[in-house]
Amino acid sequence: MATRFKRILLKLSGEALMGDQGFGICPNMLSYVAEEVRSIIELDVQLAIVVGGGNIFRGVAAGSFGMERTSADHMGMLATVLNSLALQDALEKKGIQTRVQTAISMHEVAEPYILRRALRHLEKGRVVIFAAGSGNPYFTTDTAAVLRAKEIHAEILLKATKVNGLYDSDPERNADARFIKTISYMEVLERQLKVMDMTAISLAMDNQLPLMVFNLKEKGNIQKVVCGENVGTTIGG
Ligand code: UDP
Repeated sequence: MATRFKRILLKLSGEALMGDQGFGICPNMLSYVAEEVRSIIELDVQLAIVVGGGNIFRGVAAGSFGMERTSADHMGMLATVLNSLALQDALEKKGIQTRVQTAISMHEVAEPYILRRALRHLEKGRVVIFAAGSGNPYFTTDTAAVLRAKEIHAEILLKATKVNGLYDSDPERNADARFIKTISYMEVLERQLKVMDMTAISLAMDNQLPLMVFNLKEKGNIQKVVCGENVGTTIGG
């Protein structure tokens, strides 16, 4: 099967690993994600993944309850490491070679983030999971995903979500909500559409990184995207 993209970055929110549990990591969901990943690795696509941590801990939420924000964000970044290790395990169980690289050093657990080493892994067909976000507080894993995508020269950032993409209003409240197939970065910023945080969208805009928001729960979607089908909303321009 011919693919449109050779190197992509997949952003998975922590919630994507939570399934219907409400907290933590759902083994069935991990296995599902790993199977979806396998379907594109078999097509020789080079894949890097950034995982969030919102299923375990979010710095901004803890900060609003009075915790020092930097400490809270450190905890959030550690939560992404938990998710990354769980994902690595699930991928390896499916026979997919994987490396975790962390933006905060923890040598006994994972490799440190080293761009050239990450590129070498990708060239060898290993999935590289970037953990601990950007390593800096006050950022999100969406922003880290845009940053890493640019660093590794990914052709597109795929943002996996629970919904099909962007709508012009909330489809759960408004039956007439219209699906948006393509939209510009600027419009997302101006309308403050809650698909990614503004920092992430701005960074993607300034550096011309195409984004696609798609529904992870539809089986086969990642493969369709990689083969050039627009199954979600494309953000660019
Ligand atoms: N975080 C951070 N710096 C980063 C990335 C993440 O401080 O570069 C922290 C932040 O506290 C955030 C948490 O890690 O709330 C989990 O990441 P995020 O909320 O982006 O996860 P997601 O919503 O994708 O599950």
